[in-house]
Amino acid sequence: MKKIGVIVPCYNEEESLPYFYKEMQKVMEQMDVEFELLFVNDGSKDKTLDILKDFAKKDERVRFLSFSRNFGKEAAIYAGLQHVNGDYVTLMDADLQDPPEKLILMYQVLIKENLDIVGLKTNNHKNYGFVRKFFTACYYKILGTFTTVPMAPNERDYRLMTRQVVDAILSLEEYNRYSKGLFNFVGFDTKWLTYDAPERVAGKTKWSFWKLFTYGIDGIVGFSTKPLVLSAMIGILFCFIAFLMIFVIILKTLIWGDPVGGWPSLACIIIFCSGVQLFFLGIIGEYLSKVYLETKKRPVYIIKETEKDMKKKR
Ligand code: UDP
Ligand code: MG
Repeated sequence: MKKIGVIVPCYNEEESLPYFYKEMQKVMEQMDVEFELLFVNDGSKDKTLDILKDFAKKDERVRFLSFSRNFGKEAAIYAGLQHVNGDYVTLMDADLQDPPEKLILMYQVLIKENLDIVGLKTNNHKNYGFVRKFFTACYYKILGTFTTVPMAPNERDYRLMTRQVVDAILSLEEYNRYSKGLFNFVGFDTKWLTYDAPERVAGKTKWSFWKLFTYGIDGIVGFSTKPLVLSAMIGILFCFIAFLMIFVIILKTLIWGDPVGGWPSLACIIIFCSGVQLFFLGIIGEYLSKVYLETKKRPVYIIKETEKDMKKKR
């Protein structure tokens, strides 16, 4: 019998986990495959780990990895992909915004159409406010123009993949992981199903505006070097404008003499140009910092305990 490995990153999900597990049990009963539920406790400060231990005690299909601190969802996904077993692997949020029952259809489509990946796209973002929707739309426009890897705003991380795809993703060993990009980078035959994303079942979102903003920058820097080209081009444009202005000033001085004046405009030009310079230095800095982190070769996550430790203690 085929086996599906389900990876669930959890950060302070004590409220959602019981609902999630219940839903997942229903799905597992309906499907004619074996299951492995691999929960990744991303340094939760609430009772998440206790709940996971409880699941693991009662249910042999449940496994967990518990991090030594919060390493972020990306790290949790990576750890999950590295440790999960199964011929097929899927990723789900613990808050039921990735409804487990969709897995039934996803699996059917994957098998029937002989695909490598079946993912979910949302029709709606009704659970997000206007500001978040607006910035998300702008961000993906920018991302789209900068990167060659296709990424859409409504693509969830929820997708069912074959073992081959998982191995391909794991072969990308970078430290700065931006899963959305990595998933699409590897390619393979993909089909997107659409659905209405429900509200979070319980608890609060773990993503602040700032966290999303820096994550967004990671996406651009991780999948495009075009911002560097852009800064070089704007630099050239500015040089060209400067030459033009020098020419105009020389001409003006020759015709009308040299009356002292124009310092406010000069001040503005200086401030503007130094602003542009600092901005582009910042862009270069972003890339440099990624190189710096990449060369350190620090682990993406550190595991403190797993379900195997639990068995040893008994
Ligand atoms: N998550 C995580 N580590 C983090 C933040 C989030 O493992 O540092 C998990 C979280 O427990 C959930 C999933 O990632 O299962 C998605 O998070 P959330 O629902 O807060 O994001 P949203 O749906 O609001 O984008
Ligand atoms: Mg969510």
